[in-house]
Amino acid sequence: MMVMANATDEILVVECFAREDGDWIARCPHCLRVVGMNGEEPVRGEQFQDRVCGGWFEVSSDASRLKRLPQHPDEDAK
Ligand SMILES: [Zn+2]
Repeated sequence: MMVMANATDEILVVECFAREDGDWIARCPHCLRVVGMNGEEPVRGEQFQDRVCGGWFEVSSDASRLKRLPQHPDEDAK
């Protein structure tokens, strides 16, 4: 099933992120896909753009670092 890219100009805040294979990852709040974030430093308080949907998001300054990202909400609903 196709997921519609539905980015807006709004910068949405994400409250959790994880590290996978040396990259910081978070779930794009616009399109809900997992996106990688460049940079070795902690990503809290930084803004990133999802190159696929074009949506911007900011990692909350008190975001939780998780071992794994939560599943997609649609997967939880099953
Ligand atoms: Zn996105």
